[in-house]
Amino acid sequence: MCGIVGIIGNNEISTELYESLLALQHRGQDSAGIVTYNDFFHTRKGLGLVRDVFKQRHMTRLHGTMGIGHVRYTTSGCSSIEEVQPFLVNSPFGISLAFNGNIFNFLDLKEELFKKDLRHINSNSDTEVVLNIFAYELSRFYKSDFFEAVCKSIDSLYKRVQGAYSVVSIVADKGLIAFRDPHGIRPLVMGKRKNGNKNEYIFASENTSFQILGFKYVRDVEPGEVIFINSNGIMKSKKISEKEFRPCIFEYVYFARVDALINKVSVYRARLRMGENLAKKIKRVHPNLKIDMVIPAPQSATTAALACAHELNVKYTEGLYKNAFIGRTFIMPNQDARQQANKYKLSAIEQEIKNKNILVLDDSIVRGNVSRHIVQLMRDNGAKKVYFASASPPIRWPDIYGVDLPTRKELIAYKKTEDEIRKSIGADILIYQDLEDLIEAVTRKGGVKFNNPHCAFFNGDYPTGDIDEKVLKKVEKERKNHC
Ligand code: 5GP
Ligand code: MG
Repeated sequence: MCGIVGIIGNNEISTELYESLLALQHRGQDSAGIVTYNDFFHTRKGLGLVRDVFKQRHMTRLHGTMGIGHVRYTTSGCSSIEEVQPFLVNSPFGISLAFNGNIFNFLDLKEELFKKDLRHINSNSDTEVVLNIFAYELSRFYKSDFFEAVCKSIDSLYKRVQGAYSVVSIVADKGLIAFRDPHGIRPLVMGKRKNGNKNEYIFASENTSFQILGFKYVRDVEPGEVIFINSNGIMKSKKISEKEFRPCIFEYVYFARVDALINKVSVYRARLRMGENLAKKIKRVHPNLKIDMVIPAPQSATTAALACAHELNVKYTEGLYKNAFIGRTFIMPNQDARQQANKYKLSAIEQEIKNKNILVLDDSIVRGNVSRHIVQLMRDNGAKKVYFASASPPIRWPDIYGVDLPTRKELIAYKKTEDEIRKSIGADILIYQDLEDLIEAVTRKGGVKFNNPHCAFFNGDYPTGDIDEKVLKKVEKERKNHC
């Protein structure tokens, strides 16, 4: 997963790109980059957190009134400096592009670009492939009106590229382009503000920086839509592809920041409803269960746990503390390192746990390392009973659209019954959210434009429809080849 942002305005915008990347940092901590444009492109990219990559001396070089930025979370390719975004090409125009998603036919496309389109791709990054396809297609159409050429190019790109993607791109002297894949799997939000009599625009994976920068949320980029803002702040948009809108449900479960509004759904409200629906199931399935305390797995489950406790009429307590200064365990290269990091990251408050029947709630169970560790912590701190609940259903399928879920064999729920999973994590009772209740929690609010979000990690129904065992195996193999 990654975070992207693009801004076009009338004043220098590098500081605002930086602030936006800080507000998207949760979406990726492997690397960060900014490209701005005045008469030249100016680039700063590096490995690590935003605050480590950009120093004062870099910021003062990033001139321009339009630019894009990226934070990366490696899901394909490796986390080396060659693959840090945004990428840049110099023909048929200077074009820079940043991308969030995953292209699962990128190796075929890389070969096709080399052999047919005479373009060399110098990394194993799907972004470089997307940029070069876009540039190649633009070179075929550029003689027509620029926006028309962009639309035709992206139409061809939609036909060649398989996967999920939200993209921001700047074209030298032209402006800022934003587009989203035909199913709208990955998010992309648009904001606007006035500067004198001109409009300034922002596009980002989440609206988490809009308020601090004075942008007002306008709407989401539609699935299959292309938006272009020229350097005078004039906007053009066109919907190129009409397919079913299937945004990724994992954004609401785990990925997005809790204060974000994505696809017109508040992430915070969706998580509250997840907790409420889960509590209803707990009451239905275990009507006589005695629970003394509900404890969230920090931090991503706190909102759902709050609503769950409220609905169960049980006390909510933050009996687990997470050290925010240790990186996410998912980044660790192997199972041993991850287990070790879990140990250092979480500590329990004995007074909240001892002699009590505890219900621990987490947003999801992936490999099961976190849940197993938490159950053990509860027992070590004297819990009478440990019940474990997940705000999302069992994860049984790999993600191929940019969420960093592991291969099937690493998933604890792969080929296991719920009772086998319960035994494996050591809980007295294990309760998973039902998929329909999760979908209801996300789509409950009126006016939402989707009712069938992408949930393939739970049910194997991949929106792009062209996924068979061969593709899954290929994607899993590429993941394992991480360098
Ligand atoms: P596991 O079951 O693999 O030990 O980890 C489950 C935990 O990982 C949950 O607490 C959940 O919040 C978190 N998680 C779920 N999906 C992701 C992800 O894509 N990236 C990261 N960093 N953490 C995740
Ligand atoms: Mg967690």
